[in-house]
Amino acid sequence: MVTEKVLITGAAGFLGSHLCHRFIREGFSVIGMDNLITGDLKNLSSLSDNSNFSFIHHDVTRHIKIEGNLNYILHFASPASPIDYLKIPIQTLKVSSLGTHNCLGLAKSKKARILVASTSEVYGDPLVHPQVENYWGNVNPIGPRGVYDEAKRFMEALTMAYHTYHGLQTRIVRIFNTYGPRMRLNDGRVLPAFIGQALRGEDLTIFGDGSQTRSFCFVDDLVEGIFRLLFCDYSLPVNIGNPNEITIKEFGEEIIKLTGTKQKLVFRPLPVDDPKQRQPDISLAKKILGWEPKISREMGLKITYDYFKSLSSEELNKAEHKSFDSYVMR
Ligand code: UDP
Repeated sequence: MVTEKVLITGAAGFLGSHLCHRFIREGFSVIGMDNLITGDLKNLSSLSDNSNFSFIHHDVTRHIKIEGNLNYILHFASPASPIDYLKIPIQTLKVSSLGTHNCLGLAKSKKARILVASTSEVYGDPLVHPQVENYWGNVNPIGPRGVYDEAKRFMEALTMAYHTYHGLQTRIVRIFNTYGPRMRLNDGRVLPAFIGQALRGEDLTIFGDGSQTRSFCFVDDLVEGIFRLLFCDYSLPVNIGNPNEITIKEFGEEIIKLTGTKQKLVFRPLPVDDPKQRQPDISLAKKILGWEPKISREMGLKITYDYFKSLSSEELNKAEHKSFDSYVMR
C-alpha cells in the first residue's frame, strides 16, 4: 500500500503536535512545518527518529515548496492566544491570510485535500447562544482580537472561494477552547495560567467578575473530530468543541480543588472585547461525523495537571505569569 502524505503547518504548536502524533499513529507520512515563533520543537521530540516524520523550519507566509506528491494539508499555523496576538499582531494577520493563500495554492497544485483551522472567535462576542455554524458572528474588526478573528474569517472566505472556483477539496473546522498536555505554560490562556499560578503558589487571576463562560474540550477529543472531518464529505464549516459550559470563576475553583493549592481567586479587570459566553452547538458534528466529546473535564484536567506537574521548576518559573497589565488589551 502506498503511504499517504500529509503536511501539517504549525506542527510544533499545541494542536499541530497532537495532530502529527495522531497521523503518524494512523500510518501516514507526515511533514511538519513551523517557523517556531510560538511553537516548540520539544513538542515533536518523540517523533524525531521516526522515518515517517520530517520537519521543515519554514514560515508559511512565504512560498511553500514541497517535493513530490502530497495528499492532505492541515493548516494549523497561527498564534492562538490573546497575549500572542497582542505581541505579534501583524504575523497573526499574515499567517491566516497570506499563509492560507500559500497553503491553498499548494493544495491546488498537488491536488491535495486541505483542512484549515478556524475558530469559535469567528463568532466574536456572540449574540446567539449556543453558537451554531450558520450564525455570522459579532466581531469588532478593529479591537485587539480583530487581528485574529478577522484573519480567521478571511481564511474561511478564501478557503470557500478555492472550493467554489477551483473545485478544491476543502474542510473548515471551527475550534472552540481546547486544553491538554503541551499547552505553553505562559501562553496566557486561562488553563495554563491558573495551573501555572497554582504550581508556583500564586493567587489565580480571574479577569472581570468571572461570570463569562467558556466550554473546554480535551485535545484528544478535538483531534478525533478533526480526523473524522478530514475524511468526511462536507466542505462547510463544522464546530468542534465540548458543549459543557462553565463560568471562569467556577473553573478557577475547580483548579484550586484539583491542585490543592492554598491560594485564592483574585479579580482583575476584564480585557477589552472578552467574549461573555461561549458554547458550541455540536449537532452538525454529531450528525455528519458521528462525533461527540468523550473525555470529561475532570479526567482531562487531571491528565493535563499531571503533564504540567512533570515540567521542571526551571520551566515553571520561566513561564512566570506576566503582570495582568500585559493581558488587559486596550
Ligand atoms: N482569563 C482569566 N484569567 C487568566 C487568563 C484568562 O480570567 O489568567 C479569562 C479570560 O478573560 C477569558 C477566559 O478566561 O474570559 C478564557 O481566556 P483564554 O485566553 O483562555 O481564551 P479565550 O478568551 O480566547 O476563550
